[in-house]
Amino acid sequence: MDYSLFISLVRDLYKKPEEFIPLHSPIFNGKEKEYLLDTIDSTFVSSVGAYVDAFEKKMQELTKTQKAVAVVNGTAALQVALRLAGVKAGEEVLTQALTFVATANSIAYNQAHPVFLDVDRDTMGLSPDALTAFLESHAEKREGGAYNKTTQKRIAACLPMHTFGLMARIQEIVDICTQWNIPVVEDAAEALGSSANGKAAGSFGLLGTFSFNGNKIVTCGGGGAIVSNDVELGQRGKYLTTTAKVPHSWEYVHDELGYNFRMPNLNAALACAQLEQLDTFIEQKKKLFEQYRSFCEGSEIKIKQPLADTSSNHWLIALELPDREARDTFLRITNDAGVMTRPIWQLMYRLPMYQDCQRDDQINAKFLEERIVNIPSSVRP
Ligand SMILES: *Cc1c(COP(=O)(O)O)cnc(C)c1O
Repeated sequence: MDYSLFISLVRDLYKKPEEFIPLHSPIFNGKEKEYLLDTIDSTFVSSVGAYVDAFEKKMQELTKTQKAVAVVNGTAALQVALRLAGVKAGEEVLTQALTFVATANSIAYNQAHPVFLDVDRDTMGLSPDALTAFLESHAEKREGGAYNKTTQKRIAACLPMHTFGLMARIQEIVDICTQWNIPVVEDAAEALGSSANGKAAGSFGLLGTFSFNGNKIVTCGGGGAIVSNDVELGQRGKYLTTTAKVPHSWEYVHDELGYNFRMPNLNAALACAQLEQLDTFIEQKKKLFEQYRSFCEGSEIKIKQPLADTSSNHWLIALELPDREARDTFLRITNDAGVMTRPIWQLMYRLPMYQDCQRDDQINAKFLEERIVNIPSSVRP
């Protein structure tokens, strides 16, 4: 492929003949200012307020779950969701090495250990085959759940991630984990609005988490959410993230180690305005994806596509280059031309904090690590 044709395509799509084109920038064309001013006028700018409640309700509707908890960011959402799932110090969590660092960090914040399993080449999410292979050769069922025969530690949870908004084979993952009595927490930080067979990302496991950081499909500056169909667990999530305060009109009673992970009402106001536009954003992104897709047709560059029966929010559009050399050339030429592109993350076990963690062969993860790039994917104003 002639990369200069790709650069012209992006410049045409964004109607920016010369300006720098970022990977993903937010747009605020809805009621953001109105809701923010309303928050200021109400004086409820901090962690209590009508927009926090409205945001939680909206998240329940969107994901068709029974309980949503607004929190300060997606990383905090993951940290608390794992604790809610029962992860304790010294235990293990099965996850993928091909992910953003927050997935692994949230395990470490619970003083638990990640075990890195391979991803599927098409979804770039945790592979059900790798999961089965690992469990069959390394795990055994005992009282209290599944145990790792090598380390003798309890496998306390499984944490798959929906990469760039593409759905992982999540129902298969949940089915396997159910057989092994392992709770699933879905890192759906990148997949708000994605679904499989009409069921929302984040609603398959025991708990699901989302991020509203500035680079995500909708943003509130910084924010996160935990969702669950287990109402009691959700309520416990609210309590733990609001300093574990026992309700009382004036007394300070905190009967457990909680967190101040509350989302301020100011941010919730922004989130509410942005969520109203989620469907439009996804429609727009789908068009953009189709344009990139027809451009790649017949070339040696493959666009990563959602599985049949799933729908992607197309948060960040990803291309697979033929090899590392082609990827590096693509990154250099596009970035030099002011069209931002970026490689996928380094595998987590390459980072100093996680280099001693148990892992499988990582064949697909390594393949993708060398070849995947993200291309400009912002909603066009
Ligand atoms: C963005 C992201 C997070 C963390 O969200 P923050 O709101 O930035 O803390 C977690 N996991 C994945 C996969 C992400 O992309």
